[in-house]
Order: sequence, then C-alpha cells, then structure tokens
Amino acid sequence: MIYADNAATTKMSPLAIQTMTEVMNTVWGNPSSLYVHGQEAKEALEQARADIAAVIGANPREITFTSGGSEADNQAIRTAAELGRAKGKMHIVSTAFEHHAVLHTLEKLKKEGFEITLLDVHENGIVLPEEVDAAIREDTCLVTVMYANNEIGTIQPIREIGAVCRKKNVLFHTDAVQAVAHLPIHVGEDNIDMLSASAHKFHGPKGVGFLYAKKGIRLSTLIEGGAQERGKRAGTENVPGIVSMAAALKETSAAFEKDAAHLTKLRDRLIEGLGRIPHSALNGDARRRLPGNVNFCFEGIEGESLLLLLDDKGIAASSGSACTSGSLDPSHVLLAIGRVHDVAHGSLRLSLGEETTEADVDYIIEAVKDVVTYLRSFSPIWRDLMAGKKEFIL
Ligand SMILES: *Cc1c(COP(=O)(O)O)cnc(C)c1O
Repeated sequence: MIYADNAATTKMSPLAIQTMTEVMNTVWGNPSSLYVHGQEAKEALEQARADIAAVIGANPREITFTSGGSEADNQAIRTAAELGRAKGKMHIVSTAFEHHAVLHTLEKLKKEGFEITLLDVHENGIVLPEEVDAAIREDTCLVTVMYANNEIGTIQPIREIGAVCRKKNVLFHTDAVQAVAHLPIHVGEDNIDMLSASAHKFHGPKGVGFLYAKKGIRLSTLIEGGAQERGKRAGTENVPGIVSMAAALKETSAAFEKDAAHLTKLRDRLIEGLGRIPHSALNGDARRRLPGNVNFCFEGIEGESLLLLLDDKGIAASSGSACTSGSLDPSHVLLAIGRVHDVAHGSLRLSLGEETTEADVDYIIEAVKDVVTYLRSFSPIWRDLMAGKKEFIL
C-alpha cells in the first residue's frame, strides 16, 4: 500500500511511539500532585513546553496544550473575538478556504453579531497582503489566515500579512497545522500573534496539539475546571501525548530541509506526470505549495470513484479533505479558487510523505492515468464533452 494522504494524518514515528510508551510506563503521575510522581510528570510537561517553544521561536509561557488543531483554532478565534467585543470591535478578516475548525467558529460568531470578511484566495490559492490591508477596518479585532492550505497546499505570505496586522494593530492568528515542522516557522520574525498546531500532522499522536499566544494575550477558556495550563485550559494534561508531540516536533523539524528537498522533487515529478493526462489541471500555485502536496482536477470523472479504484490498486489518497469526503458537496477550497462544481467533483489530493519513493510516484502516475481513462469510458459527462454537446473547461 502506498500511503499518499499525509495531509489527513501522518504515521507516528518510532521515536514518538517509544517516547509515549516510556512516559506511560514511568511518568504516570498527575502533574498537579505535589509528591514525587506528580513532580516528575510536571517536569516532563514543562520540558516538552520548552522544547516546543524553542522550535517556533517562542517563550515556553506562550505555549498552551490543547486536544489538537481544531481546539487551538477555536480558542484563538474565541480569544480575539472576546477581546474585540470588550472594545466594541466586532469585525474579523479571514479567507474563504480556511479549515472548517476556523470557518465554523466564524459562522458561530456571525450569529453572535460579528461581521466576517472572507478574502478571495484567487485562482492560484494565495491571499494578497494588500487585500488584507484593505479589508482591515477601525473595528477589526482579528485577522486569521492559514499558513498552508490542507487541500491544495498553497503557502501564504504569512510574514507580510503579519506585518500588515502589526502596522494596523490588529491581532493575527494563523492555523499552521499543515506547516509546523514542515516549513521553517519563527513566530517573532513571521509577525504571528497566535498559532495553532497539531501533533498528528508531524508524526506525533492524535488528539494533542498546542496554541501559541504571544505574551500579553489573555486567552479565553473553552473548558472550565481546574487550574491547569495557567487556568486557560482545564483538565489533567495528556502527559504521554504532549511529551511524544514534543519529541516528534523536534525530530521532524530537524529533518525538514532534507525532507523538503526530497519531497519537492517527488512532488514536481508527480505534477509533471499527472499533467500529461488530457483535460486535467493542477489546483493551486505550482511552486508556492507544501513540498508533498499535489492536487488535481480531471474533467468528466467523479473523485469518489477515482479514490475507490485507486484504493483497489493499493494507493491511499483523498479528494478534498477527510472532513468533507463522504458528503456530496464539492470542496469549499476548490470552489474558492474558482473551480466550477462539475470540475471540482473530479479532484484528487495526493500528499506524499518522507517515506514515499520515486518508484511510488511512477506507480501512482500510471495508476491514475489508467483509472481516469477507465472512468471516462463510461462517464455520461465525458461522452457529452467528446460529442461537443458540452464545452471542455480544462
Ligand atoms: C488537520 C487540520 C486541522 C485539525 O487538526 P486536529 O488536530 O485534527 O483537530 C486544522 N487545520 C488544518 C489546516 C488541518 O490540516
């Protein structure tokens, strides 16, 4: 089986698994307890916090542990909204292709009276800093723009957007779940006020992540209870998960340059190969994208059938994101870059990993070619296109 769905989740690294089991075996106390078991757990927790902070150029006090990327996104946006509401600032700027953890939180805030501006992400899937600048108003309390998109992999000009926000004195949050450990990130140099990350996207365990919030930002709480995480996130900490996340983050980000070079080569080979399939198109900018991300549309086919047939051929891929597959709506990300419904339905996301080989890529190219040809052979849309009853879009 070739696993090409690393944007959905990654396999835990042997080091992350080893770290997790070791902690479960030896550091099983409650970090809030005063006796030795508790203090050992507390030490392990604080070491993990320091290690994570060091990787992104933050202070350990600026890191809050969460149950993953979704919770971190919710908490960051809620925080900015509540700080804004207190000052009568109830306008938020974001983009049309954010993850649902962001978009659904914004929809909820809209019902609470906030005004939301969703910026265009253009055909290439990239937000323009000058459009962020133009969208900011007197009453804007937050700009939230993802670091790299989870479907089409496009990388945003985060540093420039952050600079615009600094200049206008508006909080800037970025959902960096796809970027952390895979791209060089420094919260200070990148002008980031809040950042979300998730361990299972960088070979750590599922159900654990963190929120970076710059010193001075008073976080809102989503979960009430004990005084863990300086009172900002109640509940006994997931010590094995958190320590394992720190190990995975250090390990994956230490190897990022080598991995990125390897993945970029494979990605470009795959894009080149799939681009030779007639009436196909790459989604998102060809260069400013995550090293392992390839996303294509093939006219005249259905993404779901494509996935099932690829599964038969031993390839695990995705169409749209895991959260939307299973529903018949086309991906909001592909619609946001201007793909029409018919075309957006025939999409395929392949997200390569460090273990992917050149032989895997060549096998994927041949398999996709065969499956697309086969599906088109009995597609009514394809028949109409070929008969000239419908115009080709791609
Ligand atoms: C996976 C993902 C999330 C959600 O993270 P979880 O840890 O699964 O909650 C949020 N944003 C992006 C961009 C993602 O890729």
